[in-house]
Amino acid sequence: MFIRSVERDTTLDAFRKEVRAFCEKEMPAIVRQKQAKGQHLERHEYDSWLKRLGTMGWLTGKWPKEQGGLGWKPEQFMAFQEELGRAGAPPLLSFGPTMAGPVIYTFGRPDQKETYLENIRRNNTWWCQGYSEPGAGSDLAGLKTRADKDGDHYIVNGQKIWTSMAHWADMIFALVRTDQNAKKQEGISFLLIDMKTPGITVRPIIGITLGHHLNEVFFDNVRVPISNRIGEENKGWTYAKFLLANERVGNVDVAKVEASIEQIRHLIIETREDGKSLAEDPVFKRRLAELDVGLATVKALMADQLAAARQDGAPSLMGAAALKLRGTELQQAILQTGIDVLGRHGMVYQHEALNSGWNGEIIGPEESADVIYEHLYRRAATIYGGSSEVQKNIIAKGALGL
Ligand SMILES: Cc1cc2nc3c(=O)[nH]c(=O)nc-3n(C[C@H](O)[C@H](O)[C@H](O)COP(=O)(O)OP(=O)(O)OC[C@H]3O[C@@H](n4cnc5c(N)ncnc54)[C@H](O)[C@@H]3O)c2cc1C
Repeated sequence: MFIRSVERDTTLDAFRKEVRAFCEKEMPAIVRQKQAKGQHLERHEYDSWLKRLGTMGWLTGKWPKEQGGLGWKPEQFMAFQEELGRAGAPPLLSFGPTMAGPVIYTFGRPDQKETYLENIRRNNTWWCQGYSEPGAGSDLAGLKTRADKDGDHYIVNGQKIWTSMAHWADMIFALVRTDQNAKKQEGISFLLIDMKTPGITVRPIIGITLGHHLNEVFFDNVRVPISNRIGEENKGWTYAKFLLANERVGNVDVAKVEASIEQIRHLIIETREDGKSLAEDPVFKRRLAELDVGLATVKALMADQLAAARQDGAPSLMGAAALKLRGTELQQAILQTGIDVLGRHGMVYQHEALNSGWNGEIIGPEESADVIYEHLYRRAATIYGGSSEVQKNIIAKGALGL
């Protein structure tokens, strides 16, 4: 159990100050402006900020020092996230630093570490995750994308779906079936694939937010060097599970959650009904208090998981499941409160207001489009990274031995 110190940590205070000053000075104006309006960033805008964080080593601060990280303690990572949230920075991307990186430094060969880790540290490479397929989501081990050997290459054929940011990604880490006859979990390998390889087609899926975030990725006779396999052939399930625990912890961005509560608190204070601020309404007072308690719980769970990861190299599957469950339920509760505060304005989704250069008139409070977008987007939070029902199954198995 992570021990929360009651004494003031002066080193941590100094670090917070450094991050604050860095954000103040280094965050590109366009990123700051778009974030303030809740507008979408282009990849090059995101890049310009992430690369600056990369020069400090902060994208991968929690990696162990021997792997090129800064060996941050959990409280330092959380302080970092909090300061980014306070500065209005965009969320960190987890596909490289939280998912691919730790798999590569834990199970990869020295030449793979050499090729990929520095580029993740510096945000030179964007990664996406090729796990889910039509028919293989919760039942991930049922995946059918196959990789057949041909000399020193695999020939990959099949389809991935719901692949976030594949249209921006340089690399995909993909689970593929390398043994058609073995038991489901035993015939899977973990491949690193360059998205520019001939035979890969990325098609957009436009979701409920009307934004482009999701994709289908098709593999048609894609030649992938065998040397791009992580670890042993047919042992990919082990690496996949290791990654999933990290992913589930990464699914909960405490700073984003905190910033989101502050946004809704502000909205509650500013919204007036019969001449009185909603902040005086006992129902909203109670809901805010519940959100604050939820945040404290999620912070404690997060600290425990980060501490476990430092000790054992990865968070526990069960602890990560509990954090993912509570964290994503909290995200949805915050945004539902936002929609309830918006009232009838919550019914008008002006998604074009989130595009840069839009100069139309906002219907309702200024935050409306952003709150509605987030509300719609985060409906998926209890699905991606493994649905809530699947997390409950993991907790039941681990805690109750079911
Ligand atoms: C916004 C978004 C982004 C995503 N990004 C990625 C990505 O980048 N890469 C990637 O690989 N995947 C991604 N996914 C896919 C995601 O991981 C899957 O959607 C998720 O694992 C659920 O799988 P499924 O959609 O096939 O649903 P299904 O597995 O078909 O589940 C349907 C329903 O049945 C329930 N269910 C299924 N099995 C059980 C069970 N054993 N017990 C109880 N209930 C069960 C589920 O909880 C769910 O409610 C993303 C999904 C979304 C929505």
